[in-house]
Amino acid sequence: MQQYRNIVILTGAGISAESGVATFRDNGGLWENHRIEEVATPEAFAADPVLVHNFYNMRRAQLPNVDPNPAHFALAKLEAELDGGCTIVTQNVDNLHERAGSQNVIHMHGELSKLRCNVCLTVHDWETDCFIDTPCPACDQNALRPHIVWFGEMPFFMDEIYGLLRSCDLFISIGTSGNVYPAAGFVSEVMRLGNAHTIEVNLEPSEGASLFTECRHGKAGDLLPDLVDEIIMRD
Ligand code: NAD
Repeated sequence: MQQYRNIVILTGAGISAESGVATFRDNGGLWENHRIEEVATPEAFAADPVLVHNFYNMRRAQLPNVDPNPAHFALAKLEAELDGGCTIVTQNVDNLHERAGSQNVIHMHGELSKLRCNVCLTVHDWETDCFIDTPCPACDQNALRPHIVWFGEMPFFMDEIYGLLRSCDLFISIGTSGNVYPAAGFVSEVMRLGNAHTIEVNLEPSEGASLFTECRHGKAGDLLPDLVDEIIMRD
């Protein structure tokens, strides 16, 4: 393995699976026993905001009960020890990367521990429950929603992410099924420019596995510590 100076790491639900956070595709399209259309679309929130708030309240309340696993800690070590840039672009809305010590994390699908006001657009850090009559601390309107990118909405930070993909020399995708765009297209964007090494780490070959130059299949918590040590040793 060569030396790398600009690493981009895409993570998905699979990296948090060993922490006890349910993945979405692994259980037949059910997410914590809800169909995705019932809880993760703007239409769902408009139709039944009580159900959607309850779903996210439940998931937010789970956060203190799950802990980062060896895969999260390995990525934090990589960022700390690499003599170059290392950015995690995560599709996950949990906070396990940060709690493992990673500082350079982009949450392209939002964060469970934040709410946004639909009126004044202020984003608030939030650890407790939210209800339809919870007022926005900034403007006092009852218009708070989860700061989550729902299906049909535009992911956050896309310009910044494509800039990173264009300049990276190593792209690693971890624990993502390759079904959800635009993240599923990141490896093609990196390969189109032709300069970066690309590695998939996943329990099984993902939809896009053949697009990567290297694949390592197994549990992220088993594979990541060794992969990170290989990268650091070359540094
Ligand atoms: P996904 O559920 O579609 O795919 C998860 C992938 O991880 C699968 O390919 C599976 O084989 C693999 N996997 C399972 N356990 C693994 C392990 N221990 N090690 C390595 N790989 C493992 O998830 P996705 O691709 O992230 O996309 C689904 C959407 O659901 C995303 O938008 C994501 O934001 C959201 N989601 C987030 C969380 C979270 O925040 N933790 C949890 C569930 C879903």
